[in-house]
Amino acid sequence: MLFETLKQLCRLHGVSGFEAPVAQYIAKKISPYVDSVSTDALGNLIALKKGCSASPKKVMFSAHMDEIGFIVNYIDEKGFIRFAPLGGINLRAALYGPVVFANGVKGLLVSEAGKADDPKYATCYVDIGAYSQKDAEKRVKIGDTFHLQSDVTAISRRVWAGRPLDDRAGCAILLEAAAKLPAQVNDDIYFVFSVQEEVGCRGGRTAAFGIMPDFGFSVDVTATGDVPGAHTMAVSQGKGVAIKVKDSSLICHPALVGGMHKLAKDNKIPHQTEVLTAGGTDASAIQLAGAGAYAGGISIPSRYIHSGVETVDKKDLEACIDLTVALCQTDLVALCGLSE
Ligand SMILES: [Zn+2]
Repeated sequence: MLFETLKQLCRLHGVSGFEAPVAQYIAKKISPYVDSVSTDALGNLIALKKGCSASPKKVMFSAHMDEIGFIVNYIDEKGFIRFAPLGGINLRAALYGPVVFANGVKGLLVSEAGKADDPKYATCYVDIGAYSQKDAEKRVKIGDTFHLQSDVTAISRRVWAGRPLDDRAGCAILLEAAAKLPAQVNDDIYFVFSVQEEVGCRGGRTAAFGIMPDFGFSVDVTATGDVPGAHTMAVSQGKGVAIKVKDSSLICHPALVGGMHKLAKDNKIPHQTEVLTAGGTDASAIQLAGAGAYAGGISIPSRYIHSGVETVDKKDLEACIDLTVALCQTDLVALCGLSE
């Protein structure tokens, strides 16, 4: 079930700023489990499950729908397509791979002859099998977007590989968590599927501003330190949900971090601690919304992030779902020892 959901999510086109196909899929899937589903001006999808407490807290979870990709900025006389990035992609890892445009047109991302050792945007292009500008323009226009061809495969009983697991894995976690919640919860739970995270947490910012949550969590991938040549980092794939302490965009509230650890321990959810030295998440946007919110991060250990072969461990995803479900049903003020 989780694998199928993830596979379907990863097949959808949704580079930053063009996430509508992903939003449509999620809206349909999540609507049976929530009280309302809405979209804001940026394209964020916001699903609300209303709490039944007399004075419910607002709790927001945010997973981003967008993936890093590319946008067409020039088509030459021979029909070759030049492009710019949308988000920080590993161009070297993308080279000589198949790509797909939003309208389904296929192409190959390649380098000018002799320049593949040090690929730059200025020296790479997409070949869509056209022989002239006119021929190419029948199928692709300036401003069209494309992404690396994506699929997800199981490379072992537990490990799934493909793209864009960043952050469709987070979207799948929120979908599963919403389905697992009991009919009644105390607090207002907002499941936000945000846009434009990869270009600077833009959707997360407006969604959080609109909601003004008391508590908020990003649900996103994090790097690991468990592969040859990796930066020194305490997170390992397969060792459970990574509870964020900080990344380069925020320092999580210590009481919330402590509460998340306690909740994971009490519910026997495998967990570890994440200190990420590069990269940011929607949690930063949530933390700074309005007068501020208690912000934390539910992080999915993932190897080879921003390449075409990102990986996740099924057990880690399950731990992330379990922690999300537990957080939705807990009095967070009491858990974290906060005064109202
Ligand atoms: Zn991400």
